[in-house]
Amino acid sequence: MYNIVLFGPPGAGKGTQSEKLIQKYGLTHLSTGDLFRKHLGEGTELGNLAKKYMNEGRLVPDEVVIGMVEEKIASTKNSKGFIFDGFPRTTAQASALDEMLEKHDMSISGMIALDVPEDVLKARIKERGKTSGRVDDQDDAKINTRIKVYFDETLPVADYYEKQGKFKKINGVGAIDEIFSDITKVIDSY
Ligand code: AMP
Repeated sequence: MYNIVLFGPPGAGKGTQSEKLIQKYGLTHLSTGDLFRKHLGEGTELGNLAKKYMNEGRLVPDEVVIGMVEEKIASTKNSKGFIFDGFPRTTAQASALDEMLEKHDMSISGMIALDVPEDVLKARIKERGKTSGRVDDQDDAKINTRIKVYFDETLPVADYYEKQGKFKKINGVGAIDEIFSDITKVIDSY
């Protein structure tokens, strides 16, 4: 069983690589951004709560995110493991995740961080914004906020896993298949 945190700033390619990873390893994709967008689309209470944060590119409060992830893990039966995509984004979320997994006799195998320079991130997000329908992909100020939030609030999560000897950074620029191959080498070493 693998439980992998796929890490990196917005636009790093986490969603794209997650799709390929779930096919190869049969893992469950747990993307908090996707879960929030589903709630938003369905107009649930959780969706309405998350909306203003998402539309401004700010983080949804920890307790809301943690509760949602807890529910998803508890309701996923017979999984071969999870790809966590866009979660954890704060160290509080990271320690909550460790506790949750422990309850289910699981643990994080490792964090794989996709390294992509800021100019490439911004260009990719704007390109995605042409088709994603996401308001947070279409506006320079919102894109800049998301990248700033990543550096200020999310980057410390890498240290959290580094301290546990579970951190690995790989180059996230280049052909999708080459990046995928680099990721699989790390996973196959677990
Ligand atoms: P993403 O699709 O991962 O870029 O997430 C889109 C938006 O959802 C983010 O800009 C946040 O507003 C919210 N979000 C997703 N995941 C988290 C998380 N782990 N913690 C806080 N907010 C999140």
